[in-house]
Amino acid sequence: MTVAEAQARAADRGDVFTLIDPSTGQPFQDVPRATTAEVDAAIADAVIAQRAWAALAPTARADALRAFARAVEGAQEELAQLEVRNSGHPVSSARWEAGHVAQVLNFSAGAPERLSGQQIPVAGGLDVTFHEPYGVVGVIVPWNFPMTIASWGFAPALAAGNAVVLKPAELTPLTAIRLSELAREAGLPKGLFTVVTGQGSVVGERFVTHPDVRKVVFTGSTPVGVDVAAGCARALKPVTLELGGKSANIVFGDADLEKAAAAVPASVFDNAGQDCCARSRLLVQRSVYDRFLELLEPAVTAWRVGDPHEDGTEMGPLISAAHRSTVAGFVDGADVAFRGSAPDGDGFWFPPTVVLARPGQRVAQEEVFGPVVAVMPFEDEADAIRLANDTAYGLAGSLWTENLGRAVRVSRAVKSGVLSVNSHSSVRYWTPFGGMKASGLGRELGPDAAEHFTETKNVFFATDAS
Ligand code: NAD
Repeated sequence: MTVAEAQARAADRGDVFTLIDPSTGQPFQDVPRATTAEVDAAIADAVIAQRAWAALAPTARADALRAFARAVEGAQEELAQLEVRNSGHPVSSARWEAGHVAQVLNFSAGAPERLSGQQIPVAGGLDVTFHEPYGVVGVIVPWNFPMTIASWGFAPALAAGNAVVLKPAELTPLTAIRLSELAREAGLPKGLFTVVTGQGSVVGERFVTHPDVRKVVFTGSTPVGVDVAAGCARALKPVTLELGGKSANIVFGDADLEKAAAAVPASVFDNAGQDCCARSRLLVQRSVYDRFLELLEPAVTAWRVGDPHEDGTEMGPLISAAHRSTVAGFVDGADVAFRGSAPDGDGFWFPPTVVLARPGQRVAQEEVFGPVVAVMPFEDEADAIRLANDTAYGLAGSLWTENLGRAVRVSRAVKSGVLSVNSHSSVRYWTPFGGMKASGLGRELGPDAAEHFTETKNVFFATDAS
């Protein structure tokens, strides 16, 4: 029985969850909820597929991944429209995301021929290292960027010679399902990359406990990530964790204030703030604090919130009614400086919101994962560094200054994995990405992405004539 057949049976027995369009609040599709037996069947198929895949010539694996990339490019608009419907992402963002998946695949396709080991000088022989694939890799994905985050796991894992079983979030499985179909249409063998839909406590948990899944990549919330890591520790299984964030955007008095203020909305309201890298704390030097808020207000009110199907929309709805209540809880009783707009109708709308905060408050410490920024003043460089590091997290961050020495000092002192100076960029698929402290373990993307899906084998060949 194939996994598709097993999932069809799940649909027949009514074991499904219903997807809701976040911009209308209307249900539109049911998706099967896999059983543990179905997860095990997918893993068994993956074990078989992986052996043949790893035995292929590196060039053949590279060609297959390039074909997959071309299939994704050909389906860019289809994938984008699926993401608009399922996740409420503005269509311009969703198109970028689909294009990004193709680029990650193309970049990863360069890896099979470049996974070189070392030759290490030894007496009496030849010593070489090999980058061996783990076997089957389990990838667990959150709902906020369903296809891009999936690709950061599956593309380099496949490039390194692994098979992949992937669990999308319950709320947003559609683009991952389509990507696995595109892999098959592009010629990747059956069982090599399988998407299994269902609950985290069933499907995700099984990736952690199943002995044939030899590495887990988890992206999601810190509490669930800690449980996943604990389970992987019990199974002595390597795990990469990409977790939450509470990133600081630090604006010094010597910065180009107009440019820094204009850049704030995209840094925190992009994807309605449902971004692990959202600069949800805005630290502004006290000497320019009032001036900066004056510059910020028009930028926030101009941020275009509305129908995600329209080309000019910059921000859509939140993912669900429950999540909107959580986000609203952070603003209740807060000192709101000003807000942008949001549609009135059905759908899980929430306006961009600027809150004046104090460092110990919940809104200044916890991940809101919505379009809410907590603004706080600081006195000097040391105070800025202290405040920036004053959360459990350490994922991303930005600093704005025209002073080169300060830019170097502060970017070295802030304990975050991904920083940008006079910019808010966080993700380029050819540079490393990942968090410090409670934001995660390990790195994705970048030059070593495929190597992270291998373990090193050292082999000594005796050359002494006997
Ligand atoms: P979540 O932790 O609730 O779920 C993430 C995934 O884990 C989902 O697929 C879920 O079904 C699965 N899961 C749940 N319980 C599980 C279990 N017991 N075992 C295995 N898997 C389980 O997170 P979410 O609400 O989907 O996503 C939002 C969170 O993700 C935020 O905290 C955000 O910061 C974080 N995130 C981090 C990054 C990053 O790269 N650092 C990127 C995006 C999102």
